[in-house]
Amino acid sequence: MPSPFILLTPGPTPIPPSVLAKLAEPILHHRTVEFGDIFIQVLENLQYVFRTKNPILLQTTSGTGGMESAVANLLSPGDKTVVAAAGAFGNRWTKILKSYGLNPILLEEDWGRAIDPEKFKQILKTEGNNLKAVFLTHTETSTGVVHPIQLLSRLTHEHSDALVVVDSISGLGGQELETDAWDLDVVVSASQKGLMNAPGLAFVSLSEKAQKAMEASKNPRFYWDWRAMKKSIAQKETPYTPSVSLVVAQSEALRLIKQEGIQNIWKKTSNLAGWTREELKKLGFPNFPQTPCDVLSAGFVPEGADGTELVRRLLKEFRVSIADGQDKLKGRIIRVAHMGYIRQEDIQKGLTALSSCLHAART
Ligand code: PMP
Repeated sequence: MPSPFILLTPGPTPIPPSVLAKLAEPILHHRTVEFGDIFIQVLENLQYVFRTKNPILLQTTSGTGGMESAVANLLSPGDKTVVAAAGAFGNRWTKILKSYGLNPILLEEDWGRAIDPEKFKQILKTEGNNLKAVFLTHTETSTGVVHPIQLLSRLTHEHSDALVVVDSISGLGGQELETDAWDLDVVVSASQKGLMNAPGLAFVSLSEKAQKAMEASKNPRFYWDWRAMKKSIAQKETPYTPSVSLVVAQSEALRLIKQEGIQNIWKKTSNLAGWTREELKKLGFPNFPQTPCDVLSAGFVPEGADGTELVRRLLKEFRVSIADGQDKLKGRIIRVAHMGYIRQEDIQKGLTALSSCLHAART
């Protein structure tokens, strides 16, 4: 009998059976009372997970669509922005901004390190005047680093009037994040990681200041227009057909998250992260990031082994899916997730298989 498939990638992640079952239910029409009630409940429960009283918008798109929608709705041509990046997803902010004709000031840090608050402060001190927004990444999935979002947000508000925009696509629901207490203007997340759903939904929270920026923005937008999304919430609707099944499934996943309690989940995820890092080290994969996040572990591939081949072999021979490094880290690190519905026993099995693969590659 083939061994069961184990998904340990940092998104998509496995989803609980009751969430999976919701995806198989008959489709509802999206402009009905039944769907409208589920939709509103999803938004309310997302506020609980985001730790915010701000409105949350739901979009049928992957996380990158949520990021692009932030650029489309908050800015105008010529606006001054800062991107603090130390990995592939930090760089994504830069790529999106450039594709909108903007030219952000870049604070780049080596991959594997967190953004240095001192360097960030210096940029704010010299460039803070007329700065429209800073773009940050909560957990950098390409390196396994957690950035000091609370501190970076405080520094931004101390030295400028800029909006703080945070990608918490892999962080939300696993790594501590307090939207209101940390004064985050916009937080972007997605369904397929800590939120324990299939890929296809993005969520953004908007502070009052972000809503004002949305009204003032001169960027062109249609599908991404937050004004239309916000307005239609009053009718318990989305402007266009949402991914109905994903919304219904999200409602179940959020029910489970609420039942467990977000602080308990943060703690559980953090414990699992510590354990996974130790186990990886024992297997010969020393920890890569300097300030590791809780939602995934990244380890150096042992000398002489090829990480890309290891990941390929693990999937082919053991049906265990982990992630290779991205871009310049390809083949050099492996990444194992411990967010959402991933349990210690799954990681244990995955690491046992990884050890066999490594051994086989050496003999
Ligand atoms: N940012 C981060 C931190 C991510 O982990 C990801 C997904 N790996 C993205 C952005 C992009 O999200 P998506 O692939 O859903 O568009």
